[in-house]
Amino acid sequence: MNDPAAKARRKPVASGNGVPAAAIDQDRIRAAVREILLAVGEDPDREGLRETPDRVARMYTEMFSGLYREPREFLRKTFTQKYDEMVLVKSIRFASMCEHHLLPFTGKAHVAYLPNGKIVGLSKLARVVEVVSRRPQVQERMTEEVADLLMHELDARGVAVILEASHTCMTIRGVRKDSSICTTSAMRGIFKSNHSTRAELMSLIYGAR
Ligand SMILES: [Zn+2]
Repeated sequence: MNDPAAKARRKPVASGNGVPAAAIDQDRIRAAVREILLAVGEDPDREGLRETPDRVARMYTEMFSGLYREPREFLRKTFTQKYDEMVLVKSIRFASMCEHHLLPFTGKAHVAYLPNGKIVGLSKLARVVEVVSRRPQVQERMTEEVADLLMHELDARGVAVILEASHTCMTIRGVRKDSSICTTSAMRGIFKSNHSTRAELMSLIYGAR
């Protein structure tokens, strides 16, 4: 993960479930949203818009909460298990924010790993996707971050992460390709080196072809 955005990211201020109140400057978001409304020629004081800066501030606090949370915490508790076949959690829903347009991209993640003597609670894989998704980013980087994190923390023999998402920056503006789905994948370890393992994964996700 030699990615400047990840490096620049501030250290999580607090762990656990809540977003630390001090982490995201809601006053600043409110002021900025009011500026945007003025810039497009709107009246931010009319009834329908009066609460908008505050609503947007709360929404961004939620959408970017992953900047201040450490997904590896969900992977600390592992169980020793002599299971060495593939573990796959399919179709984990997520919503993230495209860092180029600040518009959401939404879809599903398929996460698989090949354990190396330890396994993790299945819901924890979904937790990791959830936390990582709540950041401004591009889908490619999100895919790799989840894969590298799991590979590292689970000490797995292999990890595969496939994301399929629809990007509103493509569907509502620009080229307006409203049915296009972007698929990205990150293969690590055996999933990368072994063709038949990868083929097994694909048939588990997409069915025999
Ligand atoms: Zn975009």
